[in-house]
Parts: sequence; C-alpha cells; structure tokens
Amino acid sequence: MELFGKTHHSTVYQKQNETYKEKNTAPIVKSVTDPRDGKRVALKKMPNVFQNLVSCKRVFRELKMLCFFKHDNVLSALDILQPPQIDCFEEIYVITELMQTDLHKVIVSPQPLSADHIKVFLYQILRGLKYLHSAGILHRDIKPGNLLVNSNCVLKICDFGLARVEELDESQHMTQEVVTQYYRAPEILMGSRHYQNAIDIWSVGCIFAELLGRRILFQAQSPIQQLDLITDLLGTPPLTAMRSACEGARAHILRGPHKPPSLSVLYMLSGEATHEAVHLLCRMLLFDPMKRISAKDALAHPYLEEGRLRYHTCMCHCCYSVSSGRVYTADFEPTAGDRFDDSYEKSLTSVWQVKELVHRFITDQQQGKRPPLCINPHSAAFKTFIRSTAWHSSKVSKKEER
Ligand SMILES: [Zn+2]
Repeated sequence: MELFGKTHHSTVYQKQNETYKEKNTAPIVKSVTDPRDGKRVALKKMPNVFQNLVSCKRVFRELKMLCFFKHDNVLSALDILQPPQIDCFEEIYVITELMQTDLHKVIVSPQPLSADHIKVFLYQILRGLKYLHSAGILHRDIKPGNLLVNSNCVLKICDFGLARVEELDESQHMTQEVVTQYYRAPEILMGSRHYQNAIDIWSVGCIFAELLGRRILFQAQSPIQQLDLITDLLGTPPLTAMRSACEGARAHILRGPHKPPSLSVLYMLSGEATHEAVHLLCRMLLFDPMKRISAKDALAHPYLEEGRLRYHTCMCHCCYSVSSGRVYTADFEPTAGDRFDDSYEKSLTSVWQVKELVHRFITDQQQGKRPPLCINPHSAAFKTFIRSTAWHSSKVSKKEER
C-alpha cells in the first residue's frame, strides 16, 4: 500500500483537494502497512484540529497522552506522521498498534464468552485503568467500543479524546458532557460539578455486567430515565450518597417512590454470575463515589485471581518462560512512574500558538527515531482513506470542558 510518502518533504504532503471540506472533527482509524517494516498498524486521522482553541488544546492533550503512555493495556502512539509546513498543517496522523476488534463487537457477536474470557477482559480493563488513574488521568469515556481487543484476547483502553487530569480542587467545575450515557455514573447524571476517577469504575461495573448478561445493563432513553434505572437496581440512595448532586436531581429522587434495592437480579445476568462476581460487581456499582472500589482494590478481589494468572501465563510482555518454567514479574499491575503533567495548558491562549507547539511537539518526537513518514496524498489508498467512513470513531464535543 502506497499510502505513505517516502520523504517528509512538504511537497509530498500537500493540502487536501480543495473541494473536499470536512466539517466534523471525529477521528478516523484505518489499518495500513508501515513501509519501514511491513507491519500492519492503525493510522488515526485527526482532522480539522485547529478550528478553535478548545479543540486544538484537547487534541494536543490527547497527543501528549498517547506519547506518554507505556502500558500493555493502554493504547499508545507508535509514531506520529511528519507534519507539513505549518501553513498547511490542518490534520494529524497518529500510528498505533493495530487491534482486530473491540469489546462492543465481541459482546454483540454470537461468539460464546466463557467465565475465563470475562475474567481476563475485566482484569485487563482494571489493570489499564489502575495505570491511568495512577498517572492522575480520568478517561471519562470508558465503554465497550473504547476497549480494543485482538484475537489473543489482549485488551487495550483507547480513545483519550475526553481524558483529562483529575481536578483536586473541589471548587473547580468540571464538564458534565462526558461518558456515553449508558455508562455514565450517577454523580454525573445528578449534575455533580466535581467528580473523581470513580466515574471510570462505574463504567467498568456496567461493562462487567454487560459481559455477563450480553446486554447493556442500564439502557435508558434519557439521562433522567438512566438515573431511574440505576435506582431501580440499587434502591433509593441515602442523602449522604447525593451530597454533590444538584438540587433538581436530588428533588427528583426524593419526590419519587422509595425503592428497595434489587441487587439479587444480578445473579440472573448469566450462569457465570457467581457469588464472587456479583460481590465485585456490587463494589463497582455503588451509588456513592466515595464508597466505590478503586481499580487497585478491585484488582485484589479474589474474582480476578484467575484472570491475572491467565494473563501473565500466556498473554503479557512482563513475564517470560524458561526451560524450568515461567518467570513472573515482580509487579503484576504496575503504576505510572510519573503523573501526567498538564500544567502547560494554562499558558495556551491562541490557536496559532497551540498550532506551533503541536508542530514542534510532533517534530521533536521524531528526533533520533526511525525514518519519518508522511502522507502521500496522490496515492489511491489515501483517496479511499479520506472518503472512508469511520470504523472506529469517537465524538468530540466542541463545548468548553475542564
Ligand atoms: Zn506478566
């Protein structure tokens, strides 16, 4: 495939056909062959990056995160294509590892999911999330479609378009325009202006139940109905669990009938919903974010022991085999060495400034690495690529967020 140009000279990478004007900023991902080693990789196109300050700051953050991550259960950038001269710089192409499918496609497929599958998937989701949370990052859009899976059942968390560093100052407002509704934690549904990484654990709980039952746990038509479905299962929350809720949401709960919890229905999700499974699930699906289990503590739950063993016996890169047996790593679930530093964002004030910084950041990434690649806009593959519909895309809201 001749999608890549051979040099990074800007004449090869020119502006797209002027008649082709793309309005949206949703990324498009395509599988391609890296001409340097013949390996199949995923090429993600981030179009129309520099439309406004909000969108370019967010893309810069995502790029920095993709280059920061070093964890087998978190998708990271293998390379970023060489940008053209800054005047023609409108889109960014990132190369990541290629994964065959995602957990949403696995769940809706007729393929059977054994208890072992569920355990090893859940183990890897929590292993990746423990790493992200240790770096101070909230993913904010954990859902089956953002959990990439390959044929060996290796799983990687992807799509950091909504991710941000956790806000420690409780007086700072954070956007509620996060997390796909079915996986949205009750504190966000109730209008909480400040939330923590427990929102990601709620999403994992929903996914765990979905793996067991092969259907979405809370599938509502609106955020209010979403909250009602949650209280149908968990019962009416005590006032202490709604401390951060907005007045209207609290009134909605208190106005309604008092509901008892009906957690025993979780045993009916599937034959794999054992006592251990339901116990862990209930620790994730707690209404009160302060009481919800952390990724680190969830990984210590007995339900995940078999998943850990399976993962480190034949799927990981941290352990290895010798003739006498398996040599296991000292740390099965590593944390990030450093927190992700987003302090640079405070000084970003104009689109042009961010554009220059992103341009320099990408160029700096290339230093001393493999020969740089760029897009060859004359290739047939490129023309197909820019016209192709997304097989994995994510919405990028244009609203201001913090
Ligand atoms: Zn290992």
